[in-house]
Amino acid sequence: MPNNNHYDFFVIGAGSGGVRSARIAAGHGAKVGIAEGNPLGGTCVNLGCVPKKLYAYASDYHMDFEDSRGYGWHSGKPLFDWSVLKAKKDNEIARLNGIYGRLLENSGVTLHEGFAEFLDANTVKIGKDIITADKILIAVGGVPTRPTFEGAEYVLVSDDVFMRDEWPQDITILGGGYIAVEMAHIFHGLGHTVNLIYRGPLFLRGFDDDLRQGLAHEMEKQGINIVFEDNIKRVESNDGGKEVFLESGKSFETGEIIAAIGRTPKTEKLGLGKAGVNTDDKGNIPVNGNYETNVPHIYAVGDVSSMYQLTPVAIKEGHFLADDLFGPKGSAKTVQYENVATAVFSHPPIGTVGMTEAEARAKGFDVEIFRTSFRAMKYTLPGREEKTMMKLVVDKATDKVLGIHMLGLDSPEIIQAMAIALNAGATKAIFDRTMPVHPTSCEEFVTMREPVSS
Ligand code: FAD
Ligand code: NDP
Repeated sequence: MPNNNHYDFFVIGAGSGGVRSARIAAGHGAKVGIAEGNPLGGTCVNLGCVPKKLYAYASDYHMDFEDSRGYGWHSGKPLFDWSVLKAKKDNEIARLNGIYGRLLENSGVTLHEGFAEFLDANTVKIGKDIITADKILIAVGGVPTRPTFEGAEYVLVSDDVFMRDEWPQDITILGGGYIAVEMAHIFHGLGHTVNLIYRGPLFLRGFDDDLRQGLAHEMEKQGINIVFEDNIKRVESNDGGKEVFLESGKSFETGEIIAAIGRTPKTEKLGLGKAGVNTDDKGNIPVNGNYETNVPHIYAVGDVSSMYQLTPVAIKEGHFLADDLFGPKGSAKTVQYENVATAVFSHPPIGTVGMTEAEARAKGFDVEIFRTSFRAMKYTLPGREEKTMMKLVVDKATDKVLGIHMLGLDSPEIIQAMAIALNAGATKAIFDRTMPVHPTSCEEFVTMREPVSS
């Protein structure tokens, strides 16, 4: 029986993937509804990319104030106020929430506020609303994984970082992925004493080794206390803060502990069993090349199912799905998972695309490595001893550039343009004949002549 709450396409989760998919599907003429239990925009807008980058900008000012003296500027001791940053950030996020609301409204998508739960494969419940739909998209993202060691209840996660406007002086961060490294930069730049604890020999597993080593070296030079090859065994809370007990037997006092040890898909309370949708042992939803789950009319995109937990990937997946289901035949553009460019907003930041040196060698490529390390011109007058590193991984047989890696000022901005060259199949010869832009750091990418190793 048709009812008012019947949709052609119903999307669970108004984050990066869900909003894009809903809007595009509605644009193709489908009747679309979307459920969201939190502020619109998902993790990226509310608890991820956006507030993180705003805080990273705030953190970068620390060095800018110091360096400005090298250029003749004089000012008093800079003072930082967490409550101002938090309030300004909240205002900006509220503005973005409003934009997302208007985007949905203007494209004709009906918003159902609340958390959705499957009742069966075509029916979901949101509060008192019962919704039926021909096709359903699960785009529920994830939440920070909480540690399980004794005293884990005293440990914060990335979500908490964006909710508090007061922090103790001493902060301990657990993990060695994107979030741990970015948080270490944020807190250090904002004047905190930072300990970073990672269980492996070097953080950012999967990134090019030169980037990992270079960043660890720069962070240590700045005074971040990095502890590799150790883990937290237990935490106790006391009046003044927390006591951390490491597996190595060492212990120390700290103000707060933030665990950044990955994310867990938000599938637990979705009622997936009632819809017959399978998950893997971690709660992720496996999908085929068309983002279809094991139930043919139920789909999943973004963090809950993707091999990459990145906003642009979630958006492209959601877009493809909407075009594929409701657009003109053949209009859907397959998502390209090769050579996904990515950045770590550390200090110095990382920008990277394509194969790491180790990956290229493991795949059997006979590679030439071009690498340069130098002090950025901006740091000469202030005398800042920070190195920028750039690296090209080149296939000797074809001269094709397989990987482009940068650690240094503006690398997230630079790598986006470099990714186009790499995806266009640029050879080292094309890099060489490209006219440099002078004076920039980026010109080094087209002036590296001799390989450092092969
Ligand atoms: P989300 O954006 O998480 O959206 C899912 C939505 O579903 C949420 O709004 C949630 O409330 C809602 N939801 C969940 N369950 C239900 C339910 N039952 N009913 C209704 N609604 C529900 N990526 C980058 O590319 N660049 C970055 O710089 C970056 N920085 C990050 C920093 C941090 C601290 C974090 C945590 C993540 C960062 N990411 C970054 C990752 C990025 O945020 C995610 O990859 C992206 O948000 C995934 O989009 P999604 O649509 O899959 O899920
Ligand atoms: P990551 O998966 O990137 O890193 C998790 C880290 O935690 C790894 O170093 C891992 O170690 C470690 N770890 C896992 N389990 C444990 C444990 N039980 N005890 C101690 N350490 C543990 O997750 P993040 O939380 O940093 O970020 C989640 C995702 O969000 C990222 O993968 C990324 O896709 C996305 N993101 C993107 C950003 C960007 O684009 N700039 C910024 C922030 C997040 P090991 O390496 O040994 O497995």
